[in-house]
Amino acid sequence: MIQLKNVNKWYGQFHVLRDITLDVAPGERIVICGPSGSGKSTLIRCINRLEEHQQGQIIVAGEELTNDVRQVEAIRRDVGMVFQHFNLFPHLTVMENLTLGPMWVRRKTKAQAQELAMQYLERVRIPEQANKYPGQLSGGQQQRVAIARSLCMEPKIMLFDEPTSALDPEMVKEVLEVMVELAHTGMTMLCVTHEMGFARKVADRVIFMDQGEIIEQNTPDEFFDSPRSERTREFLSQII
Ligand code: ADP
Ligand code: MG
Repeated sequence: MIQLKNVNKWYGQFHVLRDITLDVAPGERIVICGPSGSGKSTLIRCINRLEEHQQGQIIVAGEELTNDVRQVEAIRRDVGMVFQHFNLFPHLTVMENLTLGPMWVRRKTKAQAQELAMQYLERVRIPEQANKYPGQLSGGQQQRVAIARSLCMEPKIMLFDEPTSALDPEMVKEVLEVMVELAHTGMTMLCVTHEMGFARKVADRVIFMDQGEIIEQNTPDEFFDSPRSERTREFLSQII
């Protein structure tokens, strides 16, 4: 579903991704962790072309990422993304946030888009919030709206960039529960998160990044219980 071959990226002189090679099978669920500044966000942003890489190959759902604008649009349709700070449109209701993409990008009618929106709002368990504005919702509810909004585009792949790290502790669980359910539907998922409970429950593989490199990858049990590299052990000792 996703293939990265020797991907390198620089921000000016700064070498942010170093020779990243990664294959993600359809339906595979991957958790990416690592210290702040290690390139996790940059890596997943390269997969939906929010960032460009300078060397190597990225192939998403069979298409190699290039600068072709139409192809970038196609990739964005296949790849949904959920950010730390929700990024909902504050001046639109929940329903309007959810129907915008399906109507304008997917060419659905308003009625079709609304039906789809309700279906996904039910999935994330907040159908009753459809007519509110994001500012009237809690952080956990806003993040669930953001997940529903991505799902309304019927993506093949979902990318999550620290979706719970801006939330108050009591709201983390409700968002993780929605993500666990999504994982069980067979969605291909790449999640940057330090939520170990989530990783142990759903991840097929945990990847540890440091200074732009993949240092280690393994099944969650092996990764957390017997990390191989000293850098991984040091990182884990800080987050546990
Ligand atoms: P992480 O998500 O693991 O915290 P990032 O991918 O956000 O790491 O950032 C990796 C490094 O690249 C950091 O040192 C950060 O300061 C730098 N960086 C991120 N975005 C930019 C940018 N647009 N321009 C220059 N440097 C950047
Ligand atoms: Mg980040």
